[in-house]
Amino acid sequence: MTEAAPLYIAGEWASQGRDTAVVANPATGREAGRVTHARTEDLDRAAEAAALAFRGWSRMAAYDRSAILRRAAQLLRERAEPIARLMVAEQGKPLAEAKGEVIGSADHIDWAAEEGRRLYGRVIPARAPGVLQIARKEAIGPVAGFSPWNFPVSQAVRKIAGALGAGCTIVVKCPEETPYSCVELVRCFADAGVPAGVVNLVFGQPAQISEHLIPHPGIRMISFTGSVPIGKHLGEIAARHVKRATLELGGHSPFIVCEDADLGSAVKLAAMLKYRNAGQVCAAPSRFYVHESRYEGFVTGLVAAAKAIKLGQGFEEGVTMGPLANPRRLTAMERFVADATDRGARLQTGGRRRGNEGNFFEPTVLTDVPEDAALMVEEPFGPIAPVTAFSSLDQAIAKANALPFGLAAFAFTRSFATAETLSTELESGMVSINHFGIAAPETPFGGMKDSGYGSEGGIEGMEAFVTTKFTSTLGLGGAS
Ligand code: NAD
Repeated sequence: MTEAAPLYIAGEWASQGRDTAVVANPATGREAGRVTHARTEDLDRAAEAAALAFRGWSRMAAYDRSAILRRAAQLLRERAEPIARLMVAEQGKPLAEAKGEVIGSADHIDWAAEEGRRLYGRVIPARAPGVLQIARKEAIGPVAGFSPWNFPVSQAVRKIAGALGAGCTIVVKCPEETPYSCVELVRCFADAGVPAGVVNLVFGQPAQISEHLIPHPGIRMISFTGSVPIGKHLGEIAARHVKRATLELGGHSPFIVCEDADLGSAVKLAAMLKYRNAGQVCAAPSRFYVHESRYEGFVTGLVAAAKAIKLGQGFEEGVTMGPLANPRRLTAMERFVADATDRGARLQTGGRRRGNEGNFFEPTVLTDVPEDAALMVEEPFGPIAPVTAFSSLDQAIAKANALPFGLAAFAFTRSFATAETLSTELESGMVSINHFGIAAPETPFGGMKDSGYGSEGGIEGMEAFVTTKFTSTLGLGGAS
């Protein structure tokens, strides 16, 4: 990647004359490319371009907007291989996972393209004859989006496609760690015919960008995905300026294996979800609560699955887990393991950095982890599975609900009654039982408690980008 990843503002790519920063390859630690940092005047131009383009885009027929977005989805599918390769070089995940992410992102665009045509309002019966009362859905306005590095394309696409499908324009700050795949995503929208100013892409100092863009008079809403502390901070700035916020923040998802669970399926899914993307997934299971009668069997199965994972460079054939995306996560994993074992946890497998080049950390299983270990209260965001036993369902639910997080929860049971109890009692924005059933474009994705508010995906995700206008008119088609 020889040229610095550029900004895209008002329909033009820009990098000349601006500061750049290194983009590191997480598998080697060496420079993979550079990213252009926006100047303050770039941010102003981007917000103004989004505000200027809003009138035309929001009033374009939803049918025509939809056609443009579907073209963008098609381009993304056609370019999946080269975009996935960029992602592996800057983020580290295995090529197959990267390709799956890009192709899945095209589905998100198609969903937003279609659903934007169904943002129906309603006619409200009036108290007087001749009065027509309408509640209509209007695009809320230009959006400032902030997307993270764990899924460079699929996190950014939820913001861009959602906003555009609803008729909003957007300035999106994509992650500085993984800019190249984001640039190619935005290029798909540009090449599909999205008018200048409708999508604007910036990179730079995150705090400087958010503190400048959120209060900007051209911006009407923010959408952030990232950690709880940063989400709270950005939510405060948005509230001060009376701007709507969708906050998709961290999680610490419980995975409950009940006495009557299908153990084979539970182990298989636990390993798949825990180690996918090296555990850097906001909705990944991160606290495993297993009924005492199934505990040994579950641990044996999970340890075997963790040992079977092939850790290596994402481009290598057969590799099933890549390096962590940045050295911060490596340091965090080492701290979690040291803290847990100091408190009496037993290391069953992994627990160490692999090699001394890149950010490789072994798939790890810890058992008998006390509830006050850092790993059990802070979001791990890495490939560590802490497993503990429970004796009653009430106890498992109490443990699951004990943290301020509430993003995703998983459970395995053969009993419909237990599944219903878990569905209603777990304080979690998404509950998935006996399979992985979250994050499809047509289903709402979002948290409760400290994990944030608002949804991405589903009709709820489209509703996030619209506001309700009420009009009442006397004298049309009746008595006046
Ligand atoms: P971080 O809190 O520094 O950053 C998280 C994300 O927010 C990054 O993408 C970063 O660019 C952005 N960010 C940071 N400060 C910002 C600001 N002032 N304004 C706007 N954006 C800002 O943490 P990190 O080390 O990059 O990531 C580690 C933690 O972040 C993880 O433990 C996890 O909790 C969280 N995270 C969550 C998700 C998610 O999908 N919810 C994704 C990535 C990271």
